[in-house]
Amino acid sequence: MKGLRKITPYIPGEQPNYVNMIKLNTNENPYPPSPKVVETLKNFDAASLKRYSSVDNQELKKALGKKFGLSTEHFLIGNGSDEVLAFCFQAFFNSSDPLLFPEITYGFYKVWAELFHIPFKELPLTDDFDICFSDYKQKNGGIIIANPNAPTGLFRSHDELEQLLKEQTDVIVIIDEAYIDFAGKSAVTLLKKYPNLIIIRTLSKANSLAGLRVGYAIGNPEYIRIAESIKSSFNPYSVDMLAETLATAAIEDDAYYQETTEKICQTREWFSEQLSTLGFCSLPSKTNFILTTHPKIKINELYHYLETQDIFVRYFPNVQRLNTYLRISIGTQAEMEKVLTVLKKQVL
Ligand SMILES: *Cc1c(COP(=O)(O)O)cnc(C)c1O
Repeated sequence: MKGLRKITPYIPGEQPNYVNMIKLNTNENPYPPSPKVVETLKNFDAASLKRYSSVDNQELKKALGKKFGLSTEHFLIGNGSDEVLAFCFQAFFNSSDPLLFPEITYGFYKVWAELFHIPFKELPLTDDFDICFSDYKQKNGGIIIANPNAPTGLFRSHDELEQLLKEQTDVIVIIDEAYIDFAGKSAVTLLKKYPNLIIIRTLSKANSLAGLRVGYAIGNPEYIRIAESIKSSFNPYSVDMLAETLATAAIEDDAYYQETTEKICQTREWFSEQLSTLGFCSLPSKTNFILTTHPKIKINELYHYLETQDIFVRYFPNVQRLNTYLRISIGTQAEMEKVLTVLKKQVL
């Protein structure tokens, strides 16, 4: 047949559904969304759905504007940050020079580059799985970096990012901050000084709303407008009415999410320590997951064993540098205690 497209798609973590499973394979939040989100859902007027959703998402943009102290033109909203990233790739990466990103990072970057015919180059990480910023000082058509990076969990400081931005003034640099709430200082404060910076956020991780599908970009209004024009050329109503309403309630309840985020970080530190007493070697994570390996254990066997115990974690058999590692999302303290009990039986 003529004209058919061949492409290797992004493969998300599975979504198993057992009653008592411990699901730690897609970095979802173990805590429910804010009670204000739940209340907003209960009070949602279903009759309003007969209308199309908002094209410019002013309600959510106003809430974001308040959160970040920026005007509403700094935001682009999409159906998950995956979609926001897709719009940004099409809006900003149209050079014949390659888009640069780390060889080990969020798997979707490569998929989009291929989908949109964007030339790209994957730059190796150091032996410690860190991003080597000096490698990015080469001719390029743009840069995308997840900070903290996934699935390594490693976080790079503001100063290092600023150095990168200083060297790259004529291309767009995207920083994907999907896990920033679990890490530290956001690059948002660099926006004023570096207008070529675009930041991507999601409500899927720290805001416990993976199923709602809302993400956003923050950037210079001049560039956000271009990304908006891509959105309008593809699916102007991509954010449905219910999603915008609930996302707004979530953004307005920072206090609740600070609490759940703090709990996850505490559990992460505790769990990581426990792993090391069992002989696991983990990368120092600033996210809601831990990338870990064990010198004496066959990781693929451990992965399958955990599955038999209804514990689902992520394993990357096809990524050479990662096929001896497991990525374990951080669940509730009680869930991680159960995981630890199971691991102890296997290791000790
Ligand atoms: C989870 C994740 C996303 C996607 O988030 P959605 O908003 O659910 O589409 C984007 N980037 C990174 C690095 C992620 O880990």
